[in-house]
Amino acid sequence: MFLRILQDMDALIAFQNITLIDGAGREPVANATVAVRDGKIIYAGKAKKWQPSHNEDIINLDYGGKYLLPGLIDCHVHLSGSGEPDSQFKVDDGSMALKILSNARKNLAAGITTVRDLGGWNELEFAVRRWIQRGEFTGPRMMLAGRFISITESGADYYEGMYRVADGVEQVLKAVREQIKNGVDLIKLGVTGAVLVEDGVPGATHFNFDEVRVAVEEAAKFGKRVAAHAHGIDGIRKAVQAGVHTIEHGTFLHQGPDVIEEMARRGVFLVPTLSPGMAVINGDRSKVPAWIVDKLIETQDAAKESLRRALEAGVPIAMGSDAGTPLNYHGENGQEVHWMNEAGMKPMDALVSSTSRAAKALGWDSRLGTIEEGKTADILILDENPLEDLRRLTDKKLIRAVFLDGKLAARHPTDSYPKAILAKDCLQVGM
Ligand SMILES: [Zn+2]
Repeated sequence: MFLRILQDMDALIAFQNITLIDGAGREPVANATVAVRDGKIIYAGKAKKWQPSHNEDIINLDYGGKYLLPGLIDCHVHLSGSGEPDSQFKVDDGSMALKILSNARKNLAAGITTVRDLGGWNELEFAVRRWIQRGEFTGPRMMLAGRFISITESGADYYEGMYRVADGVEQVLKAVREQIKNGVDLIKLGVTGAVLVEDGVPGATHFNFDEVRVAVEEAAKFGKRVAAHAHGIDGIRKAVQAGVHTIEHGTFLHQGPDVIEEMARRGVFLVPTLSPGMAVINGDRSKVPAWIVDKLIETQDAAKESLRRALEAGVPIAMGSDAGTPLNYHGENGQEVHWMNEAGMKPMDALVSSTSRAAKALGWDSRLGTIEEGKTADILILDENPLEDLRRLTDKKLIRAVFLDGKLAARHPTDSYPKAILAKDCLQVGM
């Protein structure tokens, strides 16, 4: 019996000869060691200060000076979308479950170890997560919002399967309870119109204050947070006053200095989602409908300006790529970190927004987001320093390995590792 317990225990893994970027914003540490036991980090710091106990099996992984950082956290994805040019996600349910699984794995293989899905499809994402949690498939850590709760509008027809229509306080209450029954980790509310709905007016307020407020209160009873999709300033203001935790997009936030101040004061996160616009502006848009191209181009400067103003005022910023939208592919989420940098965030700050600050936005910061003693061993290893060029985060040639819970979840095809540390169906990086 005793022997069996010993066998079941994971050996200690020591990541040697690395430059440590801890995700908390501290200066990188060269010649560092990170030690992991049973999926938890037990040491992170200078190699020479590490003192392993002598009677323990150690698997040493020598990375020859490569960079070790926390697995990235993307606070805004749609696993039900694959970057379809017309933003039409719909397929039959069987295909959709596989599509969600495939997209989830693309995130993990690109070093996104945690995704927050803000609009799933027919509750299929819950089944996918269950199969991942059961160990049938390797996949990222998933925080799920279930359906996008919305007022009556045409988006509900276009994204049939993603929306839950609710009008008035009573229906919103019912919708929130339904979502919680389905197993959500948080609630997503469409507080304003959308860019990716043909007749959607992004600046228009959808939910009234009372409707947002009741969602926040009901969610809080169950310990759940609320993410507000909000472009227009009136909607953002109402959402912030009603107590939501994150503002998604926040496109016209720059129009309300009072709202920016209030977000900073309350610690409401802005998730700027610059990628949908940049993907279409820079991509091959021959198959993207004109209404999508026009609206994304029209709103992009405002989105960047809002990010800059929020930054100046000290609003906490968390990375969210909105992956799944037209030409905005899962596995390329790291681009968002680069766009945040281009819009005015310092490289280290943009990286922190994708690690420890993102973990905070999710409320999972006690276990995720940094490489520190006691944290979960979600780890990304890169061949070159991402702080010199954040596009390296998404360069499939430079991603060396991805660890989830201390297990190797994705590896470079030419690298070999001891079997004991492989996740059940270890992926290839950048698949
Ligand atoms: Zn979205």
